[in-house]
Amino acid sequence: MSSAVRVRIAPSPTGSFHVGTARTALFNYLFARQHGGTFVLRIEDTDQVRSTAEAVETIFAGLRWLGLDWDEGPEKGGPFGPYRQSERLPLYDEQAQKLLDSGVAYECFCTAEELSQRREQMLKQKQDPKYDGRCRDLTVTQQEALRADGRQPALRLRTPQTGATSWTDLIRDEVSFENALLDDFVIRKSDGFPTYNFAVVVDDATMEISHVIRGEDGLSNTPRQLLLYEALGYQPPLFGHVPLLLGTDRSKLSKRHGATGLEEFRQRGVVPDCMANFLALLGWSAGAGEEGELFTREELISRFDLGAVNKAGAVFDHEKLEWMNGCYLRALSVDALAELAVPVLVEAGLLSGNLSEAELTQVRRVLAVTQERIKLLSELPDATRYFFTADFQYEPKAVSKWLTKPETAGILLRLIGALESMPGPALDPGVELTPWSLEETVRKVAEQAEVSAGKIIHPARVAVTGRTFGPGLFELMVVLGKAECLQRLRRALDYTEALQRTGE
Ligand code: GLU
Repeated sequence: MSSAVRVRIAPSPTGSFHVGTARTALFNYLFARQHGGTFVLRIEDTDQVRSTAEAVETIFAGLRWLGLDWDEGPEKGGPFGPYRQSERLPLYDEQAQKLLDSGVAYECFCTAEELSQRREQMLKQKQDPKYDGRCRDLTVTQQEALRADGRQPALRLRTPQTGATSWTDLIRDEVSFENALLDDFVIRKSDGFPTYNFAVVVDDATMEISHVIRGEDGLSNTPRQLLLYEALGYQPPLFGHVPLLLGTDRSKLSKRHGATGLEEFRQRGVVPDCMANFLALLGWSAGAGEEGELFTREELISRFDLGAVNKAGAVFDHEKLEWMNGCYLRALSVDALAELAVPVLVEAGLLSGNLSEAELTQVRRVLAVTQERIKLLSELPDATRYFFTADFQYEPKAVSKWLTKPETAGILLRLIGALESMPGPALDPGVELTPWSLEETVRKVAEQAEVSAGKIIHPARVAVTGRTFGPGLFELMVVLGKAECLQRLRRALDYTEALQRTGE
């Protein structure tokens, strides 16, 4: 084996792309990039029943979204392809035949029913339900008789019954399993398909993988895989088992704790760089950078240290992810934010697909005043709806707090008058309104009405946005523009007057 770093992510396409798999992919990617190595993608689709083409696409999309471009793999090619296990069956057969010929593997004719019956029996007798080795030493005549009986044999590896299989794990240090705990496990099923343990070893060996970095749930497979390397005459790679992801209650991360599929985070509007930053810190501490826990891709690559990955489980804290995403969103330039935001706003029906330059400018202005206030892109449609349409309802709380007040109509009337007499676009088309000119106007209205500025600002906010909270009133009014603000103020005036008349 060459000394080049070659790592892989080998997902099974059987559902959503789990954040745990994404984190493992990221660790492999960072390790490869740091060492100038190769990051391989292999699709482990030998489970014909559970694998789907859609799940394969989800894996591609997830890795691309996170910016984890694979150097070799499906759609990319490479010298060790094909990179889908379902296309590598002849290779597994060839290697299985080698093991059969050398006697390290043997044919097992036991049927699934027989095996499960014996399993139950052993469990009843409080024994470890291992395969009992019944077909280990069948004579050729016995084998022929079973074959003539129509039985299709599986292949099992003859495993040592004494001693231990050990390795120095890159994360967990010394790990050792008693061989007596292992049974003669199946390497090829009776339907001719390889088992995971066999296919993964054939692939990792023939793809010259140097470091197998995978989830801790794979730990108990590793002794079996090491025995297979030995049987096949390959030098094993180094292994590193990364800790499991946990929920905030420290139980294994599951849907109970919230989303676990990468796609859901994309849909909620987590920024991909933030997702990668967050995932990188699950089980590994990069130390404090200039920006606390916020690291660029380059920083992650240079700082990543497989040896410093924790043994203990890593808590996936949704709140922390949202906090971090807010930081990422705030740090984006308005142009960069617009690129992420426009598709979200189009999907929400607030924008049409083809934006003119003027519309795009307006979107940027909207984003500039809302950027500080969102943690997820998916909050944008709700946070910005009133900028794009006047067709909104007043929040009930806003109505009861402000629009039912008898003095509100007078205040709105004064504000409308003051706004109308502010220099308009005809005088200075570039600067229709400014936050400070508006502030000045509101201050004057407050003085004349002999009320505090707040008594103007709150009902004005309700009138132009329908809400009691939001970005700074003057800033958002500038974005809406004078004509639109006047229209909305007049509508609110009508509304509050109607409430007064009906005595509500
Ligand atoms: N296909 C396996 C999984 O998705 C890969 C495990 C490994 O990396 O060896 O869990």
